[in-house]
Amino acid sequence: MDNKLTSFIHDIIDDDLRQGKNNRTVHTRFPPEPNGYLHIGHAKSICLNFGIAKEYNGLCNLRFDDTNPSKEDVEYVDSIQEDVKWLGYSWDDRLFYASDYFDKLYECAVNLIKAGKAYVDDLSAEEIREYRGTLTKPGKESPYRNRSIEENLDLFQRMKDGEFPDGSRVLRAIIDMSSPNINMRDPVLYRIQRAKHHRTGDKWCIYPMYDFAHPLSDALEGITHSICTCEFEDHRPLYDWVIQNVGVSFKTQPQQIEFARLNLSHTVMSKRKLKKLVDEGYVRGWDDPRMPTISGLRRRGYTPESIRDFCERIGVAKAVSTVDIALLEHCIREDLNPKAPRVMAVLRPLKLVIDNYPEGQVEWLEAEYHPENPALGVRKIPFSKVVYIEQEDFMEDPPKKFFRLSPGKEVRLKYAYIIKCEYVVKDEQTGEIIEVHCTYDPATKSGSGTETRKVKGTLHWVAEAHALKAEVRLYDHLFTKENPDDVKEGDFTQCINPHSLEVLKDCLIEPNLPTGDAGQRFQFLRQGYYTLDPDTTEELLVFNRIVSLKDSWAK
Ligand code: ATP
Ligand code: MG
Ligand code: MG
Repeated sequence: MDNKLTSFIHDIIDDDLRQGKNNRTVHTRFPPEPNGYLHIGHAKSICLNFGIAKEYNGLCNLRFDDTNPSKEDVEYVDSIQEDVKWLGYSWDDRLFYASDYFDKLYECAVNLIKAGKAYVDDLSAEEIREYRGTLTKPGKESPYRNRSIEENLDLFQRMKDGEFPDGSRVLRAIIDMSSPNINMRDPVLYRIQRAKHHRTGDKWCIYPMYDFAHPLSDALEGITHSICTCEFEDHRPLYDWVIQNVGVSFKTQPQQIEFARLNLSHTVMSKRKLKKLVDEGYVRGWDDPRMPTISGLRRRGYTPESIRDFCERIGVAKAVSTVDIALLEHCIREDLNPKAPRVMAVLRPLKLVIDNYPEGQVEWLEAEYHPENPALGVRKIPFSKVVYIEQEDFMEDPPKKFFRLSPGKEVRLKYAYIIKCEYVVKDEQTGEIIEVHCTYDPATKSGSGTETRKVKGTLHWVAEAHALKAEVRLYDHLFTKENPDDVKEGDFTQCINPHSLEVLKDCLIEPNLPTGDAGQRFQFLRQGYYTLDPDTTEELLVFNRIVSLKDSWAK
């Protein structure tokens, strides 16, 4: 986090500082609307805004852009704060709400009216749209545009006082109905909407539009660089117009800078769509480990470090592109590989009986938690006459290069002995193999210096004695298509991956899992990285697979 990044945004800021703009200060903000949980796209914006503030010894505000009460909720306000903190950023005492500025924004609107720069329009929403024109067709002025200042002041006051029904009137700026930029064709600044606001309650029945509230919130907070995504490029002239025309002198002149939003393959990234997945039960909640939300990634087992690393690697640019989700997976592997303790777990157990091993004997074998990180220490694992191996590690009729177990063949059980498969027992009805019978060679104990023979395969296993039962949840992409919006018919829910969750209920884990920090995330030997899910109870361990070991990210 400490090394300075480079990007076109850094170049702009460097220039501004050289020219002495805004007293050579850098003040950014992250302005989420509390209408959903944050996703990995927001993480990019968070890392950028808080990161830049840190790099330039500046400040970054957390501001809730809460100007649309019908969609907003305190649940979201709380989750957003938790997620930003978890990502490793702090706003100290700089937590703001656009709703705190409602009085000031109202004054600014009155100033505009007094200056002849805003009017109350009685056209319906539909008529306004029609009058606005298109890219190829200039707009038409509203018949209410020439109302007197007195009439406008009176009507706006009465809008505020609740004399008119929702949607019956709006306040619009007087700019230019023939501007090639549609955003400048008398944009709406205020609308009437009776909705209880999560902070201001029923105090207001008129609410400012984003294009009015956002620039003024920035200016009121002394923001210097207002970083947003490219969809707002066309709004920049309006952003500047609002700040310059409301008749207030602000201590900074904030500058809007746009960058390309993050798109990630095999997922969707808009709160509206994510909310649909939650509301319609496609996932268990906002923090379902398949969701691209920060809370979903956290529950899945992602670390804040891996997400920050991902945001650094993707960088910031103007050109929109879709990042392969394999890069995100690569980042978590890179983070966990050096620090996750290795343990043994068998996900789909096959019973293996060692016929020449004494009945009832339990041997405690020493095993390191990490082959390259001795600091993680060692533990003892039990070995007994009955152990379980992975079903896929045994084949009755193996192909040529199968170096795992099959009749007459030998493998090493990791940290234990070389065993040889003697015969199998099948279920009489189904013909399914239910037991593999082996003999072990006592002279081949790992670490005893007597392991004379080498064998090609080494298998992980869990002894029946002291094994812990667990449920393991395996996750795959939530969508089958790289771009879920690319479906021919219907919407993105058409290409939901029906196999995005696989629940394995009979898994076995070695006992004595590490606890504390090291106990947060593990590598299950040969399989992948796993973390405990909060569904874990006294009776049952529940694990999430964070990511498998196989890295498909081509460097
Ligand atoms: P969504 O469409 O997902 O609801 P939004 O832009 O409406 O996103 P906001 O709560 O307004 O969500 O976003 C807060 C900040 O996060 C904004 O500055 C926005 O530009 C940024 N942001 C949102 N989505 C992305 C993304 N995919 N990539 C980068 N930044 C994003
Ligand atoms: Mg937004
Ligand atoms: Mg939005």
